[in-house]
Amino acid sequence: MVCMGRTFLFECNRCGYRAKVSGGADRGFHFAVQTIQCADCKELYDAVTDLRVPAAPALSRWKLKASRLDAPKTPTKPPTFQAALNRLMFPGAKRWRWLHFKALCPVAAQHRVTTWEPPGKCPKCGYFLECNAVPYRRWD
Ligand SMILES: [Zn+2]
Ligand SMILES: [Zn+2]
Repeated sequence: MVCMGRTFLFECNRCGYRAKVSGGADRGFHFAVQTIQCADCKELYDAVTDLRVPAAPALSRWKLKASRLDAPKTPTKPPTFQAALNRLMFPGAKRWRWLHFKALCPVAAQHRVTTWEPPGKCPKCGYFLECNAVPYRRWD
């Protein structure tokens, strides 16, 4: 089964706030997200809650290679949505495992977050956000 993640554009008609998030729990082929509202940032985010990584042998190869670039450590905290998108490809990996994360604010783990789904309110002003019907972006 192919399941695609979708990102929607949510807009606030009162204050102009815009967020590009999935609007709930969504799962692609390589990672899963949960839309959260951060009470400290007053922002909506797609928090990465599950990340598919190569099982042991390929992972160590990937880590060696990656350490020369920007040295990501073994993910013990969730990557940002963008980082998860950018690390989709692990060439050569045949066996996979899932890493699970608590939904956290990507800015700071200690921020207070709650899950958010439409119809949901603007994190800035409390007005209901409008959802653009057409997915802004597809990812998998
Ligand atoms: Zn607003
Ligand atoms: Zn935050």
